[in-house]
Amino acid sequence: MYFIGNWKMFGGLNSLNSLHRVIKFYKGFKRNRLVKIIYCPPSTLIRPMSKKLKNSRIEVGAQNCHENENYGAFTGSINSKMLKDVGAKHVIIGHSENRQRGESNKKINNKIRSALKSGLKVVFCIGETSQEKRKKKTYQVLSNQIKTGLDKVKNTRNIIIAYEPVWSIGTGLIPKSNELIKIIHFIKKKYKNLKVLYGGSVNPKNIRELKSINNIDGFLIGGASQDAKKFIDIIKKTYN
Ligand code: PEP
Repeated sequence: MYFIGNWKMFGGLNSLNSLHRVIKFYKGFKRNRLVKIIYCPPSTLIRPMSKKLKNSRIEVGAQNCHENENYGAFTGSINSKMLKDVGAKHVIIGHSENRQRGESNKKINNKIRSALKSGLKVVFCIGETSQEKRKKKTYQVLSNQIKTGLDKVKNTRNIIIAYEPVWSIGTGLIPKSNELIKIIHFIKKKYKNLKVLYGGSVNPKNIRELKSINNIDGFLIGGASQDAKKFIDIIKKTYN
């Protein structure tokens, strides 16, 4: 099971102090062979976090990248090659907070292909808005996002899908279990070998309900991942 922490635009160097607790927990956790932890901090923390997590088996990822795999005159941007250079092994692409700021499926596709070329693993986020859900367009939206996002991607071995309904991110709302089972099944039917995570308001309270969904391969965790105790609690409760 994957437990991926998305710190969003939170945290400075002093936030890294909380990692000691997670490293210690993970080392002593009996089922740790079943657990893959990946932290995606802001880009400014990738390097120091990678150093802190050295020898811990906890990996580091970025939260986005530029679509151009070469260096170039793109002020303020960072590409996948640069992320890899400072220690990232993964990158989140297609997060709804970036889609909402105008990132298109086509652009996401370019980013995914560029990240894979640079040797990063991709956490590809998809999800419908509340309006799309109300209009019963969820499956159509997800299909389009996946189809265009993975266009010309021949090998999906280094891609994990994170299904994150937009209406669930940061709201405390989660989908009904039967809906989630169906959606994950739908994604896996389209792409047989893909791992599918769920993301959206995962916390120590709702994890018991979410963990009972047996086709989920893990969780993308935003707010709760910034609190080491909550993050550890989520992992512990997934296994008992
Ligand atoms: C996210 O931003 O990917 C996310 C799942 O956020 P939260 O857990 O805070 O809803």
